[in-house]
Amino acid sequence: MGKADLHTHTNASDGDLSPEALLKKAQSKKLKTLAITDHDTIKGYLKAKEMAPDYGIELISGVEITALWNSKEVHLLAYNFDDKHQSFRNLLIKQKSARKLRMQAIVEVLNAQGLDIEYDEILAEANMGNVGRPHAASILIKRGYVSGVAEAFIRYLSSEKLQGVKTNYAPIEEVIRTTKDAAGVVSLAHPGRLYTDGEVRALIDEGLDGLECIHPSHNFSTQRKFTALAKSGNLLITGGSDYHGTGKSEYDPYFGIVTLGDQYIEAIKRTSENRKRIVNVYN
Ligand code: AMP
Ligand code: FE
Ligand code: FE
Ligand code: ZN
Repeated sequence: MGKADLHTHTNASDGDLSPEALLKKAQSKKLKTLAITDHDTIKGYLKAKEMAPDYGIELISGVEITALWNSKEVHLLAYNFDDKHQSFRNLLIKQKSARKLRMQAIVEVLNAQGLDIEYDEILAEANMGNVGRPHAASILIKRGYVSGVAEAFIRYLSSEKLQGVKTNYAPIEEVIRTTKDAAGVVSLAHPGRLYTDGEVRALIDEGLDGLECIHPSHNFSTQRKFTALAKSGNLLITGGSDYHGTGKSEYDPYFGIVTLGDQYIEAIKRTSENRKRIVNVYN
């Protein structure tokens, strides 16, 4: 049985490694299948796509999309979509500007607290990639306001601290519909981290195809609970390490360790292939 990791980030969003460096690392960890799931962008995936065969890696299309659900931000993982699908690409373009606007609003909140930090330097930290709170955290560390990423989130960047910040991320219905139109499948990222069981069930009812049962934030009992829920609801089981780079997040040591058996990849592909056929019939 081969090992897969369906949740990784590159420097196209808030990861440290270039797409090629990530492929290299995946090869060294003997992964068979990889999905690059940057936040709201497929640029890293597209760069890696050509190179993956050279590293003996099967790369499947992926992205982690932030969607709005009852004014909450939820992370959805989309896989095996047609990466040329126009409305799917347009969705990601809108998400990129939503990220920028949100970061401008975050900077205003930080400035109002007396922190001397500028939007442009955060954007520069993202280095053309999709901007996110970890880039703001890096600047807060550079300025000496906090000693590390964890402290930056606790004191300034958690969703509780940023409750007043309005965002125009796409609503969950739009994200699910557009991904399915592109023949992709949608899984709920790290369900154990942020939601109550009732919320997970309500999210499933929005039309999700799968649950990310395997994630470093899940202990064995959480993993078992979501796996049972996915099986009982005929949902796909997805999983990965949520790797962001060395030492960047508490999950980083799990790259190559928290993995998904590749028998689950077949089910993801099958669902997506069926969808492709249906999409072709109706278009
Ligand atoms: P954003 O994309 O702006 O919503 O930022 C979300 C990202 O911030 C996540 O994908 C993680 O990479 C990171 N993150 C979220 N919470 C924390 C935390 N408590 N400590 C460190 N990193 C975090
Ligand atoms: Fe992230
Ligand atoms: Fe996430
Ligand atoms: Zn992630």
